[in-house]
Amino acid sequence: MVATSTRQMTADLLVIGGGIHGCSAALHAALRGLRVIVFEKDTVARHASGVNAGGVRKLGRHIAEIPLSLHSMSIWRHIADLVDDDCGFQPAPQIKVAETEAELETLRRRVAELNGLGYTHERILDRQTMREHLPGVAEHCVGAIASLDDGFAQPYQTTFAFQRKAQKTGVRVLENTPVERVFKSGKDWKVSTGGQEFTGRFVLNCAGAWGGEIARQIGDHAPVRAYAPMMIVTERLRPFCTAVVGATGRPLSFKQMPNGTVVIGGGRPGVPEPASNRTHMQMAELRHSAQTAMDIFPVMRAAQIVRSWAGIEGLMPDGIPIIGPAAHAQGAFHAFGFSAHGFQLGPGVGDVMAELIATGRTQAPITPFSIERFPQNPTRAHKELS
Ligand SMILES: Cc1cc2nc3c(=O)[nH]c(=O)nc-3n(C[C@H](O)[C@H](O)[C@H](O)COP(=O)(O)OP(=O)(O)OC[C@H]3O[C@@H](n4cnc5c(N)ncnc54)[C@H](O)[C@@H]3O)c2cc1C
Repeated sequence: MVATSTRQMTADLLVIGGGIHGCSAALHAALRGLRVIVFEKDTVARHASGVNAGGVRKLGRHIAEIPLSLHSMSIWRHIADLVDDDCGFQPAPQIKVAETEAELETLRRRVAELNGLGYTHERILDRQTMREHLPGVAEHCVGAIASLDDGFAQPYQTTFAFQRKAQKTGVRVLENTPVERVFKSGKDWKVSTGGQEFTGRFVLNCAGAWGGEIARQIGDHAPVRAYAPMMIVTERLRPFCTAVVGATGRPLSFKQMPNGTVVIGGGRPGVPEPASNRTHMQMAELRHSAQTAMDIFPVMRAAQIVRSWAGIEGLMPDGIPIIGPAAHAQGAFHAFGFSAHGFQLGPGVGDVMAELIATGRTQAPITPFSIERFPQNPTRAHKELS
């Protein structure tokens, strides 16, 4: 990374993290006329945003996330209009099967709750309708909950598309550029990396699993921890499933790709090592995901696994991200800790963050995601920032 002039080292917005959230917020901010620099310690999409399962689902969202998820979905449906690339987005139903009557009853209550709140995107599929969508599903499955107009996309293709369009719109993306220090100097924010200091009016923490340290330097406390979801991909099978499938009583994310391979995730995690960027697979745990897939789709009993991997993701104790302004510091913002379901939210949350930063407000209901839901330490923050 070489910055040659003061102008190149100054921007309106300094974004820390080149995942889907950093690249999306940067693009949306540039579209609003802000000068933006993105700092990425490795390479764009190197972490969760590049290696995830690609699920684009409204199904099963925490109630607080639904408005953001709906907003994101409206962008996904026309994603090429925003980033000049279809991101491999394929519309597909997302279906979560019930293996027992008790599970199906839980799903019915979920639909009733959503309907009571005015949301109609999730519905119950009875046994026969579920089978029409999932002809290969096991006999013991009794029904399902579904969001029929969800989909999936290609993670690397998507994040690179946001990066490219951001760059075309004037954003500078500095890869292999770890932010070592973030601090306030007068009204401005400073970011230091490799002996250089960059200046911006605003700073946005999109550092994923590493977001806790950036938050600490900004003066906030966020109990984010690194988490390593594991994935499996099989050899190519004849086409048998066009939906993205989950289970109700046990973790599963299951989809057959257009080339016939089956991508399975959602199970127990591996061991993350965020300091070294490494993850360790837990093969004994991976067996549970494979077993769930075989139980729900008997055709999977004959499938060969060809590859497995894990990615590093930021997990919050309550399973929902931190989105919004810093607790104590003017001009600083957070969007991290997406707790293994932030890919779908990327396009919409970037838009919301850009609106918040550029205008000082947003219509989006982001209060539930405030960093202030966790205990903060104002005394320390003020001392660090003074
Ligand atoms: C295996 C797996 C499967 C998943 N499946 C799905 C799915 O199907 N659907 C879904 O919606 N979500 C899914 N997710 C979750 C989704 O991938 C994440 O929530 C999302 O990608 C988070 O994006 P991000 O930009 O916040 O984080 P990241 O992609 O982790 O980006 C953060 C970036 O910040 C950089 N960074 C950190 N510290 C610094 C620093 N000091 N200086 C500069 N750069 C820094 C990191 O190097 C990293 O590149 C999955 C995640 C995994 C791991």
